[in-house]
Amino acid sequence: MDFSLTEEERLFQEELREFLQKELRPITPKIDREGIPHEFVKKAAPLGIWAMPVSQEVGGQGASFLVSSIAAEEIARADFSMATAVLFLLESGWGYVLDKYGSRDLRETVLPKVTSGDWFLGIASTEPTGGSDVAGIKTTAKRENSTYLLNGQKIYISGVTEALEWGGGHLTLAKTSPEAGHKGISMFYVPIKSKGVEVSKIENMGRMGISSGILRYLNAEVPENFMVGEKDKGFYYAMDGFNHARVLVSAACVGAGETILDMGIEYVKSREVFSKKLKDYEAIAFEAAELKTRLEMAKLLTYKAAWMMDRFPNSDETAMLAAMSKLTGPQTAFEIIKSVMMWMGAYGYTKDALIEMGFRGVVSYMVGAEGAMNVMKLIISKRLFG
Ligand SMILES: Cc1cc2nc3c(=O)[nH]c(=O)nc-3n(C[C@H](O)[C@H](O)[C@H](O)COP(=O)(O)OP(=O)(O)OC[C@H]3O[C@@H](n4cnc5c(N)ncnc54)[C@H](O)[C@@H]3O)c2cc1C
Repeated sequence: MDFSLTEEERLFQEELREFLQKELRPITPKIDREGIPHEFVKKAAPLGIWAMPVSQEVGGQGASFLVSSIAAEEIARADFSMATAVLFLLESGWGYVLDKYGSRDLRETVLPKVTSGDWFLGIASTEPTGGSDVAGIKTTAKRENSTYLLNGQKIYISGVTEALEWGGGHLTLAKTSPEAGHKGISMFYVPIKSKGVEVSKIENMGRMGISSGILRYLNAEVPENFMVGEKDKGFYYAMDGFNHARVLVSAACVGAGETILDMGIEYVKSREVFSKKLKDYEAIAFEAAELKTRLEMAKLLTYKAAWMMDRFPNSDETAMLAAMSKLTGPQTAFEIIKSVMMWMGAYGYTKDALIEMGFRGVVSYMVGAEGAMNVMKLIISKRLFG
């Protein structure tokens, strides 16, 4: 067993950290207020971080999941509001799916634009009737000559404004054989500016730098060659993408958790209460020790899940580890943020301390983004009990 990064991985991590601490960290409060600037996305593109697992022939790096996890960690270390991490993991997870299952034509149309930072690529799965039960979606896609007509609605969809303003679209799940349950779902690449797509915005409480919205398909026209892979296989492609994205969520939470814990440690080293430094109270020092231990556990689980994704991407055990990491990473980061806020007293509750951005961002992963917590437990328990 070898826990060390290779020389190449370590150099990539160092170079990315240096770039992000210089270019991203200072603008995160602005991102939280106004959104991720497209100029930043373009400027970061030469580092190869957008849709990085995508193969080189369509502009990607062919990066391993471990390297993608390192990148997610570094991005959230710089922007712990999670907005940039969400952009990263959407491009990565859904770029990976499009590259793995899409036709050459579709891959060549979309992926070079995503890897260059020009276009946005996301996922449109959740509907007003629920997001956890993916097999229960109601949106339909009916073929008419060489076009599919989509009807239905998607909600809480990340990146609608970015897709409208930068270009791009979403991998969209729709029923092509409605009677066949999860075996009757297909996946389509739907450019947001397609005829028959209506867009409206939703305001979230956190990760404000990336938009959320509703997509309505009113006989939305999608060319047949925009179907990803085979008809009726979309559910399986989506699960592959979610497993990938879940590991990156956890990696982002590890990065955010580590940065915020470091900020808390610096604070308690200097803050005096009752004539003693906060760090010299065991109540604080032991809490810090426990949080650091939990963080290390979350990190090891994330790296193991990424390692498994690299070797056994479609195995049940990998899906379970991805769910375990998604269950653990956000909760660990949340506990760290909560404790650091308490250590900082009233200052922790101010916008100046920046911690509240992380608090609002991490909660999104607990309530639903990339799957709710009980759904992670469902995946793990199914593996336990069959
Ligand atoms: C910030 C944010 C961004 C998002 N971005 C996207 C996006 O880009 N694309 C997209 O498609 N979706 C997106 N989503 C939606 C997300 O995928 C859903 O929130 C998630 O799948 C849960 O669906 P739901 O919110 O409809 O909750 P529901 O499915 O209605 O679940 C409600 C509650 O019931 C629990 N639950 C569900 N099943 C069980 C069970 N069997 N046993 C016990 N408890 C259960 C859940 O854990 C949850 O707490 C986003 C969500 C958020 C918060």
